[in-house]
Amino acid sequence: MSDATGALPHYRMYIDGDWIDTEDRFEIINPASEKSVATAARGTVGHADQAVAAALRAHRRGEWRDTPPEERAAIMSRIVELLSERMDELVELHVAENGVTVRQAMAFHVGYAISHLQYFADLARTYAFETPGPVLGYPTTAAGVVRREPIGVVAGIVPWNFPLLLAVWKLGPALAAGNCIVIKPDEKTPATLLELAKAAEEAGLPRGVLNVVTGAGAEVGARLAAHPDVRKIAFTGSTAVGREVARLAADNVKRVTLELGGKGPNIVLPDADVETAADAALFACCLYQGQACEAGTRLLLPDSLHDEFVAKLIARAQSIRVGDPADFDTDVGPIISARQKIRIAEYIELGQTEGAKLAFQGTVPDGPGHWIAPTIFTGVTNDMRIAREEVFGPVLCVLRYSTVDEAVAIANDTEYGLSAGVWGEDIDTALEVAGRIESGTVWINDWHMVNAQYPFGGYKQSGVGRELGPHALDEYTEEKFVHIDLSRSRDRRVYDLVVPRAEEPS
Ligand code: NAD
Repeated sequence: MSDATGALPHYRMYIDGDWIDTEDRFEIINPASEKSVATAARGTVGHADQAVAAALRAHRRGEWRDTPPEERAAIMSRIVELLSERMDELVELHVAENGVTVRQAMAFHVGYAISHLQYFADLARTYAFETPGPVLGYPTTAAGVVRREPIGVVAGIVPWNFPLLLAVWKLGPALAAGNCIVIKPDEKTPATLLELAKAAEEAGLPRGVLNVVTGAGAEVGARLAAHPDVRKIAFTGSTAVGREVARLAADNVKRVTLELGGKGPNIVLPDADVETAADAALFACCLYQGQACEAGTRLLLPDSLHDEFVAKLIARAQSIRVGDPADFDTDVGPIISARQKIRIAEYIELGQTEGAKLAFQGTVPDGPGHWIAPTIFTGVTNDMRIAREEVFGPVLCVLRYSTVDEAVAIANDTEYGLSAGVWGEDIDTALEVAGRIESGTVWINDWHMVNAQYPFGGYKQSGVGRELGPHALDEYTEEKFVHIDLSRSRDRRVYDLVVPRAEEPS
């Protein structure tokens, strides 16, 4: 990523249409090489305040709010075009800054980010920003108009695992609805979002409408959550920090969307195709090294299939290639940081202490990098901490069940409820089981397919609210009801608009 002179790229913040630098800088470390690949400005609480003030001025100027939705959509589509042109660059940047493998970056981290932003642009064109209708049972002829108006200044806080995609899930609906947004990436992974800010500037997004502040979570993030001029906060990250964000937001009754952790149960039904389900169980657990909130980490096998399934699982796991994420043939890359690696390794120790059997552990490359190979525990029971807590690494817990009722009970015996899976040939049975799982998403014979046109979010402590889907803009708008007494106006235009078939007022 260095230029011809060997200098590392440096990322400045984007506030009020200006590129802001600081003397103090973060280093962006490639987790595979442990080498610095870029630096970024280290924003402070003062920069968060500056960005909120800029967003508020932009909101009050009204140029974005008052831009017709089709024109907002056109600018957003232009950002999509610019990002698409830079797809290779964004993939390379992702691989370098968060260690995702190149294939997964193309499909998920960057591929989804671009297509999901296009979805929000299209949604701006079709969303019902204004719904007129007659008021029934009122003594004179009256009409009601329900309007969906931008909230004002919204803020987003995103983690390091899908830094561009999860930012798009916030800035996409925020911009489509006419809001101004301040967004904070994780300290380790600011680069891809700042590339998006460059594209937004080039596409002609007015100044102050999108602001990106880099900085520490406990400072910049906490300030955004608490700031009185931020009317809504959308947070993705750990449940512990999500609770803190909700507490800070409560002081000024902010609207809050939280996308938090998960402990996805993957129920294999007795009629499942073992070969396919075993392969997919590893994909469910190991995508992006298991550092995905929606990962399938608790594999529930029926007694009838258990031994055959585990044998297939281990045979397949042996062929997983762990190594350089920039290599197209690599399946599993590095863990984001030394700290996370130690945390995962501690869970692997703990699993053995708790009495689970370490049935498989792959090998990791020699040399630098934070590596944890795919790991499979069998003999796990749902009371063990490795079955209850989010490990956030490629660690699969295999649990057994005798009856489907028992499987559903185990699946639901968790504080989380973000994602789940059901595997089986008979779709009616799989659908019936899916209906009993307390989870925001249930995949049947699939995993990780997050579709922009369908909602994503969690039951229980996996979150509050939903991102994506046709109602995503509901979370970024205030609903206003306007009552018009038509008998008190001779304005036929308004009358025809709202109640075209109603009787003329006397
Ligand atoms: P984290 O909660 O530590 O950090 C997430 C973001 O919050 C970062 O930008 C961080 O700087 C910021 N932050 C940290 N402390 C803060 C504070 N006191 N106030 C405000 N902001 C603060 O999470 P992480 O460890 O970086 O990410 C992994 C977690 O995110 C996992 O638990 C995972 O399940 C969750 N996650 C959830 C989803 C989802 O959609 N549900 C998606 C990705 C990750």
